[in-house]
Amino acid sequence: MCGIVGIVDAGGASIKLYYSLYALQHRGQESAGISTFDGTNLHKFKGAGLVADVFSPPVLSDLKGDAGIGHVRYPTTGANLPENIQPLNFQFREHSISVAHNGNLVNTAELRSGFEQAGQIFTTTTDTEIIAKILMDEISTFGSVEEAVKVCMQKIRGSYSVVMMIGGIIYAFRDPLGIKPFCIGKTERGYMVASESVAIDALNAKLLRDVHPGELIRIDSEGVKGTRIAVPGKRAHCIFEYVYFARADSIIDGVLVYDVRRRIGQDLFKEDPVKADSVCSVPDSGTAYAIGYAEGSKIPFVESLMKNRYMGRTFIMPSQKEREKAVRIKLNPIPAHLKDKSVVLVDDSIVRGTTSKRIIELMREAGAREIHMRIGSPAIKAPCYLGVDMPTREELIASNREEDEVRHKITATTLRHVSLDSLVEAIGIDREDLCTGCLTGCYPLAIEGERAKTHEIDFIDATYQAKLGSFEEPDPFSF
Ligand code: AMP
Repeated sequence: MCGIVGIVDAGGASIKLYYSLYALQHRGQESAGISTFDGTNLHKFKGAGLVADVFSPPVLSDLKGDAGIGHVRYPTTGANLPENIQPLNFQFREHSISVAHNGNLVNTAELRSGFEQAGQIFTTTTDTEIIAKILMDEISTFGSVEEAVKVCMQKIRGSYSVVMMIGGIIYAFRDPLGIKPFCIGKTERGYMVASESVAIDALNAKLLRDVHPGELIRIDSEGVKGTRIAVPGKRAHCIFEYVYFARADSIIDGVLVYDVRRRIGQDLFKEDPVKADSVCSVPDSGTAYAIGYAEGSKIPFVESLMKNRYMGRTFIMPSQKEREKAVRIKLNPIPAHLKDKSVVLVDDSIVRGTTSKRIIELMREAGAREIHMRIGSPAIKAPCYLGVDMPTREELIASNREEDEVRHKITATTLRHVSLDSLVEAIGIDREDLCTGCLTGCYPLAIEGERAKTHEIDFIDATYQAKLGSFEEPDPFSF
């Protein structure tokens, strides 16, 4: 998970980075960091907690310069240690370098032990440091960032959107399968890249397009330039970004997430109509789905669970007991809307089943007669190795249970998940171009002990250039 942003803007970077990270807060609440460059010096600040807690006006005014990168972290690889907070900052020869990454590598251990055998040391346990080490090694060999990124892409396996600042230049690249989202925007006096378009909206900037899978973007004070480093046979955009992770108002790979969720809500009714008094969402993640369900079914949408907006995500509570208690504080049922009612309860996903079970208990205590649970994703069957924090198969309630057994466990009157076909159709991207690992147990790249359907990736060299010509879309930039 995690959110990243990089910007070069003649009006200064730090405040813009702050607001962009604020817009990406849902992608990681554990820590936040910003590095900027003022033409001579690197300035950096990072800490544990939410963006608004880590940064203050004096801190932001010390982060001088027109170029900078930022990160919000939700850990997948690398424990919750202060040294793992990003961006990671390095001094390499006479250059100040700063790197931040969203995603997860699956060959970290192998790469790390290769470096360690060669006597290299690491200061963090993140896969981001491995990426940085490879890049520095290759930049010193080739003297070209393009070549270094190409070799890096050949060596690392997994999901990665990376933003790197060398001096005042921002480099950004996206893995050849395009697993994690990454987009480019035009700010008032410069350009930016960000994990999601909401970060671009936050600056009142203009979304230009997504970073192509396998593309390297370079932003400096002169403008922006894109170079295709690798071209995949197929893409593998993370399906869970559309289901849960991204903000509903983001446009990812050309698709507005809100529309996908609303359409799935309509499909949930079409696939298995039910009679009920009201449709209620589990706020906020289930709301767009519930609105779609209400539209499709003509059953009124009635808010029956009120969310305490000042509480973090319950999922991140460390123990099962704490997670169960936290649901009650986070969501309060409204008995007047529930007493003796038959309710369609809509949420985006069931992972461990803790949340749904507890919510259903609360709604029954508040008097609900029937609770028809509808879920905007198919059952989650397998872990994610590519950047979404999903528990092991043992903890996933549906990994070895049929839908009716899950229904029984969470004590719903009925339970239906949307079909994979409807989900894919709602997204509107070819199924072969989506990563459905958590839903099917089949991954877009080789992972030890798991099934995979991989596709050839072409790394661009001189002979490939001709073929690339027919692949490139018209360049939307006027540079
Ligand atoms: P549970 O079934 O209790 O494990 O929690 C499922 C709820 O957590 C869903 O309603 C989602 O909104 C949310 N959720 C799903 N996946 C994640 C994730 N990877 N990290 C945090 N929250 C999640």
